[in-house]
Amino acid sequence: MPMKGKSGPCRLAVLSVDGMRPDFYRRPQEFGLKIPNLLELVKSGASADAVESIYPTTTYPAHATLVTGVPPSVHGIYSHLASLDPTEKARPWCWFASALRVPAVWDVVRATGRKAAAISWPVSAGAAIDYNIPEIWDPAMADPHRDFTTPARHSTPGLFPEVLKVLEPILAGATPDRLRTEAALYLWDRYRPDLLLVHFVHYDQLAHQFGPASPQALAAMEETDDEIGRFRQGFLEGEAPTLVVLSDHGFVPVEKEAAPLSVLTEEGLFDREADGTPILGKLGAVHAGGSFAVYWLEEPSASDRASLQRAMKRLVEAGAVDEVVVRAQLESLSADPDAELSIDAAPGVYFSDRFEGPLVRDSIKDRGTHGQLPTRPGLEASFIVAGPDVSGGRNLGRMALTQVAPILASLLGLPGGILASNEELSELKG
Ligand SMILES: [Zn+2]
Repeated sequence: MPMKGKSGPCRLAVLSVDGMRPDFYRRPQEFGLKIPNLLELVKSGASADAVESIYPTTTYPAHATLVTGVPPSVHGIYSHLASLDPTEKARPWCWFASALRVPAVWDVVRATGRKAAAISWPVSAGAAIDYNIPEIWDPAMADPHRDFTTPARHSTPGLFPEVLKVLEPILAGATPDRLRTEAALYLWDRYRPDLLLVHFVHYDQLAHQFGPASPQALAAMEETDDEIGRFRQGFLEGEAPTLVVLSDHGFVPVEKEAAPLSVLTEEGLFDREADGTPILGKLGAVHAGGSFAVYWLEEPSASDRASLQRAMKRLVEAGAVDEVVVRAQLESLSADPDAELSIDAAPGVYFSDRFEGPLVRDSIKDRGTHGQLPTRPGLEASFIVAGPDVSGGRNLGRMALTQVAPILASLLGLPGGILASNEELSELKG
């Protein structure tokens, strides 16, 4: 069922606003938010009250689900980190699309002879995207947003310097999102991709730093709304494309930081050098803000298992843990198949990668987090779609993140099968 827009096949732009909560566009007055562009899209298009994300509710696995329509256990991106070794300095992230075990929407776009472009999309390095500047950085650098060398090296040959030239006049002083907008609009006009994917990060950064509903984070959300306005303006000049604004997860506030690695070390699951540097043993670990997963790297002895149980008990007793998510639950959540267990942070708490010091302390860095179970209130993701094939003012209710990719495929008029189930589209058309 190929979809036709008013002027030929539909072009689609997908803007991911990292961490955006749906209550921002459902109840903006509650937050004193001025987001006219988002509200106009909600009015003229279809939008969800909430989108249930995947586990853990973090950026990389969630973005992989957004473009594949399947949960982490199927697409293969289980967390943001590509390394299970918490003693490693500057751990690499899951930047590379080669880690995806199923086709993504860009693969289907290419297979049907159409073109895709992407700016800073997670897990897109090396992807079959015609015009691609992926999100990737040198993990040893202090500010990844100022690392232009690494993304340049992994971009479509020649594209990074070409785009950088366009950005030159605004380079000093522009937020990362402003740069992304300008780069994306340039690709949209210059190369006319059928699909454009853009990842905005400013709100997520400030929500981590100051809290999800802090004045700073809300100001960032209003700035993002301005960027969305630039897209709407940019699109007015040509044909009316379909515009999707969505997110990967929501956000919850935190005041306390807990250090599972410190307890696991005290229980003997990590050793230390003479100078105190931790040494990797049988246990791997991944901290993900609101959750923390552990992995047996070698077959554990009965005493190793007892040590892990003791560490978990201490974390629970210290009030750091809301729930221990055991193997069977991880399976029913379609989450990481390699994890032994995961702990979900208690309200107000997040997990760090600290090996030293007290089990729980006041947070000195973060005031917002995500990563817990997707049913945790506040962690819902967003979805708004507006365009010539979408009837206005529709409420899509509560959706699942896995439903997004089939909708994108349908909107692009891609053949069914791999990603597409046209059920979602008929829902949109009303
Ligand atoms: Zn995110």
